[in-house]
Amino acid sequence: MSERVAFLGLGIMGSRMAANLAGAGFELTVWNRTAAKAEQFCSRHRGVSLAASPAEAATACDVLITMVVDGAQVQEVLLGEHGAAEGARPGLLCIDCSTIGPSATRTIAEDLGARGIAMLDAPVTGSAPRAEDGTLTIMAGGAEQDFRRARPLLEAMGQLIVHAGPLGHGQMVKLINNAVAATNTAVVGEALLVAASSGVDLDALTTVMGAGSGGSAMLELKAAPMRRHDYQPLFKLEHMLKDLRLCLEEGQAAGAPFQFAALTREILTAAMGRGHGEDDFAALIEVLEATAGTRL
Ligand code: NAP
Repeated sequence: MSERVAFLGLGIMGSRMAANLAGAGFELTVWNRTAAKAEQFCSRHRGVSLAASPAEAATACDVLITMVVDGAQVQEVLLGEHGAAEGARPGLLCIDCSTIGPSATRTIAEDLGARGIAMLDAPVTGSAPRAEDGTLTIMAGGAEQDFRRARPLLEAMGQLIVHAGPLGHGQMVKLINNAVAATNTAVVGEALLVAASSGVDLDALTTVMGAGSGGSAMLELKAAPMRRHDYQPLFKLEHMLKDLRLCLEEGQAAGAPFQFAALTREILTAAMGRGHGEDDFAALIEVLEATAGTRL
């Protein structure tokens, strides 16, 4: 018999991931801080139950998935007032798909463990389009038996599922990946500006780069929105800045410099200062344009 699932957090990513769980036939209960979004989700997906609180969602499930923003929020929905732990039975498995700091993951897991609740960190990459079509990459950290138990659910939401190691290692892999992605986006943005300033045809540049050694996923995904100044959020800039901050904190604690990521954090901070926190992180081009004195 398949496990009953609760899903907490129906934002850009969570709503799409939960839809794939419903589509795969899992018995599903959802909760969202802004209740209207959860009500709308239930009206679109037949058979999905609505919970009034994380605690109520926990009473109706064997496995509970969180997809909120940061460690403080994961802590709140799992262990705060009316949090999932209040309604949980021993044996519950919590899978946190949000991107949070590995240290926060371990602290939360310890508190849950004291109540007989297991935890797996399972952050994702792939953004909204791959959340929608169920082809996310998911990197998990935690005990082997918890990973095995989670696997059928993760497979309903993702394509490449990697058990990265012990608790927190999924998060660390994810943070490093995002630091590279954001830094690469900034480099691509500056490359476009150098080309534009030299009068080079940008289509020619991106076609050649995309075919060879200058190519990257970020060139493919973010060059066009940067050129159009289209910042419709697939991945909010403030969330990318959070990931860079967490990655640099972990690197600093380990004594490992990450100089290019530090520079990118400053570019993202400047973009936040310009009011682009809720925009897609492609909006970092605004800062690069201001520095270059050129607009694409
Ligand atoms: P989002 O659209 O902003 O959704 C955030 C979700 O968290 C919403 O359901 C929101 O509820 C909830 N939330 C916010 N503050 C809360 C609080 N204090 N208590 C309870 N719930 C709260 O963000 P997203 O893009 O889905 O990202 C979610 C996570 O996935 C983040 O950790 C992000 O870094 C990571 N991620 C995002 C992407 C991407 O491309 N978007 C890709 C990979 C990973 P409300 O509806 O009430 O605001």
